[in-house]
Amino acid sequence: SLDTAEDSPEALEPRAPVVTIMGHVDHGKTSLLDALRGTGVASGEAGGITQHIGAYQVTLKDKSKITFLDTPGHEAFSEMRARGADVTDIVILVVAADDGLMPQTIEAINHTKAANVPMIVAINKVDKEDANPQRVRERLLEHEVIVEEMSGDVQDVEVSALKKTGLDELVEKIQLQAELLELKANPNRDAEGIVIEAKLDKGRGPVATVLVNRGTLRVGDVFVVGAESGKVRALIDDKGRQVKEAGPSVPVEVLGLSGVPSAGDPLQVVENEARAREVAEYRQSVLLQKRTAQAPA
Ligand code: GDP
Repeated sequence: SLDTAEDSPEALEPRAPVVTIMGHVDHGKTSLLDALRGTGVASGEAGGITQHIGAYQVTLKDKSKITFLDTPGHEAFSEMRARGADVTDIVILVVAADDGLMPQTIEAINHTKAANVPMIVAINKVDKEDANPQRVRERLLEHEVIVEEMSGDVQDVEVSALKKTGLDELVEKIQLQAELLELKANPNRDAEGIVIEAKLDKGRGPVATVLVNRGTLRVGDVFVVGAESGKVRALIDDKGRQVKEAGPSVPVEVLGLSGVPSAGDPLQVVENEARAREVAEYRQSVLLQKRTAQAPA
């Protein structure tokens, strides 16, 4: 059977928080993700050409790291949750200070509450003339999101993704929240992860961006991912560099898959290729049965 045993407390080591940014369209999710990507000290290093792989990690001055899921949009979030993949540790709710709360803001609040994930509110676009951050705080109160300034325990911070202000403070609040969560994983075991994105690449074949939950994924590892299997031919990080391994909370592109898995599919390293194929084939047959059962008579 697959080794999904729980890890003993002594085996656990601190891991980076995984953060998702949510909010109404045009409130600045993409801009904020881009701006935060620039906050890492490693961003200017040689070979640091940023790749879009669906997630990236920044290294801060104190060497701590934060992983951001670069998949704005609530669909990805709720779809992964529906499939049982709770990959996010912290949600950043972006609210534009001029627009205030909009339908997708409220949807994001509801998703976050349902997932029981702590939220940090980023009040964005405070550079705009008609920005009204206080009104945002008051409206949040109506939705039972009580920010610190209103004597609540939800952290909030005023930012401008455009002018790049308030970003350090936002990063500090993420770190503070992460400390409270005491996030840990065992890096010394066969890897398990979740597919964030997957595609068929013309030159490279099936490619999946995997966020490792626990263990360490290495080149040469044999794995099952959803109803596909494979052997890691190469691992590529968010800066487009080949790496030999990826530990907990690290996102990597995995090459060497038998086919394209779906976002939210779990990846598990197994002992050998025969075993990997056996599990994948079994899962394919279950999928086929489901499809046949659903097909109209
Ligand atoms: P998304 O749909 O939530 O990903 O929003 P985008 O990041 O695409 O931003 C929508 C628009 O708002 C773009 O035209 C951005 O340039 C603009 N924008 C984002 N952040 C700011 C900000 O802090 N200040 C101002 N003035 N404009 C911003």
